[in-house]
Parts: sequence; structure tokens; C-alpha cells
Amino acid sequence: MNVNQSAPPVPPFGQNQPIYPGYHQSSYGGQSGPAVPATPYGAYNGPVPGYQQTPSQGVPRAPPSSGAPPASTVQAPCGQSTYGQFGQGDIQNGPSSSAQLQRLPGSQQFGSPLAPVVSQPPVLQPYGPPPSTQVTAQLAGMQITGAVPQAPPPSGLGYGPPTSLASASGSFLNSGPYGSYPQSQAPPLSQAQGHPGVQPPLRSAPPLASNFTSPASGGPRMPSMTGPLPPGQGFGSLPVNQANHVSSPPAHALPPGPQLPGPPVPPPPMHSPQQPGYQLQQNGSFGPARGPQPNYESSYPGAPTFGSQPGPPQPLPPKRLDPDAIPSPIQVIEDDRNNRGSEPFVTGVRGQVPPLVTTNFLVKDQGNASPRYIRCTSYNIPCTSDMAKQAQVPLAAVIKPLARLPPEEASPYVVDHGESGPLRCNRCKAYMCPLMTFIEGGRRFQCSFCSCINDVPPQYFQHLDHTGKRIDAYDRPELSLGSYEFLATVDYCKNNKFPSPPAFIFMIDVSYNAIRTGLVRLLCEELKSLLDYLPREGGAEESAIRVGFVTYNKVLHFYNVKSTLAQPQMMVVSDVADMFVPLLDGFLVNVSESRAVITSLLDQIPEMFADTRETETVFAPVIQAGMEALKAAECAGKLFLFHTSLPIAEAPGKLKNRDDRKLINTDKEKTLFQPQTGAYQTLAKECVAQGCCVDLFLFPNQYVDVATLSVVPQLTGGSVYKYACFQVENDQERFLRDLRRDVQKEVGFDAVMRVRTSTGIRAVDFFGAFYMSNTTDVELAGLDGDKTVTVEFKHDDRLSEESGALLQCALLYTSCAGQRRLRIHNLALNCCTQLADLYRNCETDTLINYMAKFAYRGVLNSPVKTVRDTLITQCAQILACYRKNCASPSSAGQLILPECMKLLPVYLNCVLKSDVLQPGAEVTTDDRAYVRQLVSSMDVAETNVFFYPRLLPLTKSPLDSTTEPPAVRASEERLSSGDIYLLENGLNLFVWVGASVQQGVVQSLFNVSSFSQITSGLSVLPVLDNPLSKKVRGLIDSLRAQRMRYMKLIVVKQEDKLEMLFKHFLVEDKSLSGGASYVDFLCHMHKEIRQLLS
Ligand SMILES: [Zn+2]
Repeated sequence: MNVNQSAPPVPPFGQNQPIYPGYHQSSYGGQSGPAVPATPYGAYNGPVPGYQQTPSQGVPRAPPSSGAPPASTVQAPCGQSTYGQFGQGDIQNGPSSSAQLQRLPGSQQFGSPLAPVVSQPPVLQPYGPPPSTQVTAQLAGMQITGAVPQAPPPSGLGYGPPTSLASASGSFLNSGPYGSYPQSQAPPLSQAQGHPGVQPPLRSAPPLASNFTSPASGGPRMPSMTGPLPPGQGFGSLPVNQANHVSSPPAHALPPGPQLPGPPVPPPPMHSPQQPGYQLQQNGSFGPARGPQPNYESSYPGAPTFGSQPGPPQPLPPKRLDPDAIPSPIQVIEDDRNNRGSEPFVTGVRGQVPPLVTTNFLVKDQGNASPRYIRCTSYNIPCTSDMAKQAQVPLAAVIKPLARLPPEEASPYVVDHGESGPLRCNRCKAYMCPLMTFIEGGRRFQCSFCSCINDVPPQYFQHLDHTGKRIDAYDRPELSLGSYEFLATVDYCKNNKFPSPPAFIFMIDVSYNAIRTGLVRLLCEELKSLLDYLPREGGAEESAIRVGFVTYNKVLHFYNVKSTLAQPQMMVVSDVADMFVPLLDGFLVNVSESRAVITSLLDQIPEMFADTRETETVFAPVIQAGMEALKAAECAGKLFLFHTSLPIAEAPGKLKNRDDRKLINTDKEKTLFQPQTGAYQTLAKECVAQGCCVDLFLFPNQYVDVATLSVVPQLTGGSVYKYACFQVENDQERFLRDLRRDVQKEVGFDAVMRVRTSTGIRAVDFFGAFYMSNTTDVELAGLDGDKTVTVEFKHDDRLSEESGALLQCALLYTSCAGQRRLRIHNLALNCCTQLADLYRNCETDTLINYMAKFAYRGVLNSPVKTVRDTLITQCAQILACYRKNCASPSSAGQLILPECMKLLPVYLNCVLKSDVLQPGAEVTTDDRAYVRQLVSSMDVAETNVFFYPRLLPLTKSPLDSTTEPPAVRASEERLSSGDIYLLENGLNLFVWVGASVQQGVVQSLFNVSSFSQITSGLSVLPVLDNPLSKKVRGLIDSLRAQRMRYMKLIVVKQEDKLEMLFKHFLVEDKSLSGGASYVDFLCHMHKEIRQLLS
């Protein structure tokens, strides 16, 4: 192997542009460019996102927040107006809206807010085996008769206009999915009682108006649940609330055969927000009764088609659409696991679609990057932009350059080419890779990206074998593998100097709130041991990372922890407007050398501030100070900020409380997501120039303006963690686990990423946590193994089927040990001239990752409703194009989905009804900003489970089974009251206990004798020595280990108050915030598609 061996010292070849020419020098030092950085938040480009790109625009900034309100206003306890729902008393201030009062009983509770919609069930047609990988799902004969709008709907189906629900009072919980704020908070300086318990007592809901948002304890359930479903109920009337409902009423089975008469009825007018109900015309096409699993009809030429003959319309008996008959995420996931989980995925072949992210599989790198590093929306992309525009399928790659690999897979080899550095194409600067073609006996190579012919430097020369391959190809990672690293030469370093090892600076809020909650003591205690686990490289005995400490409230305290000191020394900087670092020597130290002084400091900090009465904090000056300290030390690094409150103290970056829930569903809603001052963007730009990454741990008791505070973490590749109403006894586990993981994880510092493509396509848009000062270079002050960058591509020329489309992602970064490296990932995709090939090679999970990020960025610039409509339109266009060009002719009454995209509607609906795009009343502005930034750097596996949570039955599989139980669909209908289920989405973890679970099971798991004795809201399962207890706790541990955030457990009992929190995650059901059920949404999509086709 030539790996890690220096090449012979021959004069550099092809180095006429020595300084990593792909990367603009101006990105370092922050000297050039506009004063206010362009942000990675692009403009929202309207309904054809992939093809109407315009250069990113900056976020329209709110006016500077001068003239802050008096401190007391902002610092007031949680009972301020914007938190009215958590306000002064248990009873809310009356009905939340007149619309709710108009709500009719019965079906309107769940269904179409209009009058009853009568529908036909789909009849699926299992005619013969699908002839190819493509199958179609049919929703035949959905019919509406007699839809009679009666009253304006209180809440739409999810496509509709904002409803009053979002602003309704009567929120039911103060421990929402993200941890909302408590009903009341102790005044800052009085030792009022905190909230006992994780789940503070629930308010009783207002009797009437809050039925939807505030299910009081034992309060009114949806009345329609209790009775039998009247036959006339439409789709919208699914009894979602029936815990033990078993779907498949007998009425489903329709007689096979005869086409139902019915000429194509003109489609209803375009759906509008005021028209929440939608109509579907039955158009014949009925086949045999469906089976228990989705059946798909062939859509290929030659396949039989049924029921396209028009006939007179004839009403059918109303039926409800059977949830079992529509594509099931669980089934798709299971099928992929069964079909592809056993064989390794070998990356040698161009354009292969990898197994789903939910499948466990091994990867063998044979020349293309592992799907752990890059996943694409399609692995076969249209040759022309016209085709791409027609299909509307976004062409995007989700790239995780530093992804962690399972132990069975080798980390990328590091290639050292010595002083000459990595070999690159002279023209486009692509790095040597398996895609390059050697010619002329090996003396030259042709670049596959730009076709330029380059000389091979003498020291790199090697003969070719009879196939034209270099005979050393398998000895060189850069000639045989999809992913590898090059050691960078000094030319790739800032100021032409090899970097120093990075530093970590811990910056701890010691204001009253931080002290009162016990946070400071907990953190200091933890840091004493955690500092032994700083990331280290390879087999290094000790981490090269140096550490420093700052505490702050309105002023900053720096600490000298030099090893020669007997005691740490504090230096106070009170001039926060002009931040400087008061000491250099002794601020950043080696942990083992200064251990005694550091330990002493961490012991003293909680004592020093124990009696503080200072409630105000600064924020921007803290980041400024950390960044200046790194600059003075001439190194990159990371700041760990532990912060509790809105920074209202007089200082740069001072903020005011501008939370206003009334803006929800207005054109001004976007301002809630925008930073309230441009100061943080300017600061972030300076941080990026210094390689200063910021991780922010928030512990808010009330609004802290996450949208603004997260700007610097977001633009520096950092992370934001949020622990609302932090209390040591309840939240320490989650916080400490997150902190340990965050501190220990490997980080690449001072990174620049460039994605090169072969002629014909180019990267045009980027999504994630980073900064861009030009249109091509993704700058990351820090990048860890959890962070992804989603890149969108666009045609700029014609592609050819023969050469395909090539991607090369190059990441230049400084390792934890201070080594400058280049990580290269290569991926070759196929190109097609037939749309069917595009649709056959798509990956819906990746599409959803892209679409969610696109939408979540869009809310910065467009009304949320516009964003949702755009997604729906694009999805309809994608599916309509398939229907028109790839599916066999069939009745318009059939919904035909491409096999690879059959989950697109269900997943897209989950995005549409997510808290960012359609918040429930319990979701705070901070929650939405938090989730928005979190999703922006999620990988495909994370977005998959985040939008469609996993629901696992715990008591159904055998106790001795070591495998994970098969999941069930995220719908209340799938819950059986005799069982216990676990639900997780990467952030939240619930155990739901059915009311009629056997006593023995209850005893085994909870150590109590009956259901009623189980403590609702329990966050720890007792450690019991029996198989069930071990199995469940083991499963929880294993799920937690898979996720990037520690998921706190909440035990929820059936019919309990907390159950509403849990139901929020049953995403196939209609949501309380107005989000459509899966069935409803699928029908809506069908209608949209038909409109596009007609
Ligand atoms: Zn080239």
C-alpha cells in the first residue's frame, strides 16, 4: 500500500495554482465581502424550486432593537401575555375562537370541516404480479355525493387557511414535545417554588372551546368516537380516536369487476383555503376486493387496465377509505429490510440505489462514496433540463462528509503525497479519484469532470494493464475507493502556516436563573470528569485540545488556570461593548497539566456565585470574547455556551422580547423565524473566519428568542440544545448525556467544502448549518459527524447516458489533533432519457429531507401557507408527471404512484403538519425556531424518523426475541389497549400503556400491581430483574444510542391527560392543529394530480 507513504520528492506537478485554488482566500480573515454576510437562507423561490434558483438573499432583518423595554418587562415570569395559555390560572379566558364554537358535533370533529363527505373506498386491484420494479397503488372510485357545505370550517384539512387553533388559549401542557414553559415562574429574586415534577399538573381545560387543544383530564373526548360510525361519514371521519379500532369494516369489499359507470367529471375548482373539503369523483375502475396489504396494479403497457369506460354517474354506497389499502411506511421499510438487509451494499456500480436508511446493511466501498456519506434524491437523473423541469423531482444530494461509520466499516484511508500534495485536474481542480481515466500508457489522465487532459507527474506515473487500468489502482485509495483523505500541504492552510491544535472554551452563564436551577453546580461537577474525554485522534493518549473557562452574567469573568498557579485567578471584563481578552498566558491550557487548578476552579464557581442576584445576561459579547481568545491563540476551536435567558443587559446583541403568537398565520409570521438584529450574523462571519464553532445549550424559563440566539451556532456549524424549564432532578440525565456526546465527538475545524460536478450539472443551492461568502464554498467553522449539508443541483448543459453525472465533494478541515486534511467523496450517477428511469431510481427519504429543508428555509421569507402550498404543488407535479408519462393509461379515478415514491404523500403530509409549518397551540415560537434549525442539518435517517416516528409494540413479540419488534403505523387505530408501545422520533421517546394491559405485564415493567398505579409522566422505568423489563430497557438504550440527541422517556397512560402529547406524534391521524390525516391527504393529492392532468 502506498497509503501514508510520502511520494518521492519530485517538483510539484500541476501546482501552478498552489493555494487550494478552489477555495477563495477571501473566506479567511473575514476582510472581504460585504459588511453583512450573505446568509445561507436563500430566497424562497416559488413553486418550481428546483429550477428557478436565484442567488440567495439575505434575511430581511428586523429593525434593530433599540430602545429595549425595561428589564422587568422582559424578565417577567412566564405569565406574560404571549404565554397566556400558561398564565395565571387554570381556567382559560373563555372560548378561544368563535369558529370553534360553531363547530358541529360529530363528524366535523375530525373530518372534513364541511358537511359530510361521502366517499367510496378504494378498491385495489391485485391483478397479476407487478411486471417490474414499478407498481402502482390505486385508489379507485373515490366518490363524493352530496357534499353540502354548511358552515365555515373551524379547521381545515391541513391545506386550509390558518385556523384559530394555533392561537387558541387552553394549551394543555407545559411540557410539550420540546418542553414548554411552566405556567408560572418564580420571580427572579424570590425563592418561589419551582415546578415540582417533570410533568407539572395539567390545567383543567376550558369546558367548551378548548376541546381541541385542551383535553382536560378525563375531559370530553371527541364525541363522535364513542358511537358507531355512521355510514355517511366521509374520509375525514376516520375514527382516529378509537384506540382499539380495527379497520376494515365489511363495507370495504366491493364487488369486483364491473366498471362503475361515470364519465369523467370535470374536476372541482382548484382547491382553495376556503374549501377544505375536496371532492373526488369516482370513475369506475373497480376490481376485486383488496387484500390485507396494499395491492398495486401494474401500470405498464400491456398490463390490463380496468374500468376506464365512462358511464353515467352513479352514486355508490358511502364507504370510508381503508387505511390498510394505502401505501404503508412500515411495509416499505420491512420489505427493504428483508430484501436488502442481508447483502452488503457494494458501491462499484454507477447509479445504484442504496438500501433505505431504515435498513441495516454493510457497505463495501468499491469506488463510490458510501450512502452514509452521500444520498441522492435520484440515482438516475434526466439528461436534459427540460426533462428535469417536466418531472419536478428535485435533484439533490444529502452529504454527511464526516459521518461516523459502524465498526465493521473502515474509516477513510489517509493518503500522503508529500510535499507535492494531492494530485488534481489543472482546469477544474477536481482531485484524483477512481473516476479519472488514464491514457497514453499512463502518462496522462483525462478529468471526468471537465474532460481536461492532464500530465501525470513523474513521481505518480504507473503503467496501465490491458484494460487501461493502472496496475497500482488497488494499492491507492484515491484510485480505487469512493472515499479517502489526503494530507494537506501547507498551501491548504490559513496564512500558509500549519494550524495549532484547536481549543474548547466553556462559557457558563452564572446569572440567578442558572444558579437557582442547580445548572451551574451540575455542569461544573460534570466538567471535572468530562475533560478527560476530549476528542483525540487515532491512538493518541491525550487530547491535543486545550481548554479555557469563562463565566458571565452582565459582565464576563475570565480565568487564569495556568498549571503553575496554586489557585485560579479571575479577571473581570465589564466593558462588554468593546470585548477584549484580558489574559493570554494561562487562559487556554492543557487539561492534564492544569488539572489541579481547573478542578479548583470548577469547585469554586458554584460557590462564588451562589448568592448572586444578577438576573440579566449578555450574549453576543460572550461569543465575541471566545472568538477573540481563539484569535489571540491563533487556533480554531469550539465555544460551549450554557445560557439561560433573553440577553437584555445593555450590550451589543441585546435583544427584546418580540414573541407574538398573533403573527402566526399572517404574512408577518416569517419574522418570528428571522433574527431580530443583524449583529449576530456579523459576529458569525467573524467566527467563521476564525474557525470558531459555537455550540449553544439553552435553559430557558421563557422566551429567549432562539431564532436570534441560534444564528451564530447555525452559521458556524454548531449545535443548539434546548432544555426548557430545566430542573436538575428531571433533566440532568438528558443534559449530561447530550453534553458528553457533544464534547466527545470528533469535529473538523475551519472547514471548507466544495462540491464539484461533471459538465452538465452544477451545485446551485445548499442547506444546512454553515456560512457561504460566495456561491460555491460551504464554510464551516466546525463540522461534526452528525451534520449534513444538502446540496441541490441544476442542469447547465445536456448530460449523456454514457458518461453519467459525477459528483466530488471535497472537505478541507483541521482535525482534532490539528492536522490539515482533505476528505474526498466521489459518486457517479446514471443519466436517463426516459422519465421512467428517473422515477425508478428515486429515494423518497432523501426527497423528503430536501423538501423539508427547502420548506423550513422558505418560512424565513414567505408565509407559511405559501410554503405548504408550494410543497403540495410540487409533489402533485411530480406524481402527475409520472402518471402522464410513465404509467399505463387508466382511469382518472385511480391514484397511481411510482413504486419508489409511494410514500411521498404520507411523508410529505408529515412535513406539512410539522410544528414549523403548522404549529399546535402548545408549540412555542422558540420551539419552532429550534426545530427549524435542528432539521436544517439532519441526515436522511434523522428526518425520516423525525417526520414519521417509529411506533413499536413492546408486548407482542416473544420475550426472548433479540430483534427489534416490527413497527406499526403511527396511528391511533393501530394501538391496542391490551398492549404497551414505544414511540420515538429522534427527539422524543414515549412508552404508551394501554388501559387493559395484563396485570402481570404491568408488574413486570412498572413494579406496581395495576394500571391505575402507574405514574403518568414517569421518566425512568424501574430496573427489574425479569425478561420484559430487561428487554424494554435494553430497547430504549439501543434507540437512544442510535440518535444524536438523548431522548427523555415519558410514560403515557391510555386516556390520560398526557396522552394528547403522545398523539401529536401519531402522524397518520388528523392533528389537533388542523393537519390532515394520511387518508385525507392522499385524497387531496389525488385531486391535485387530476387537476394537473386534466
Ligand atoms: Zn477537470
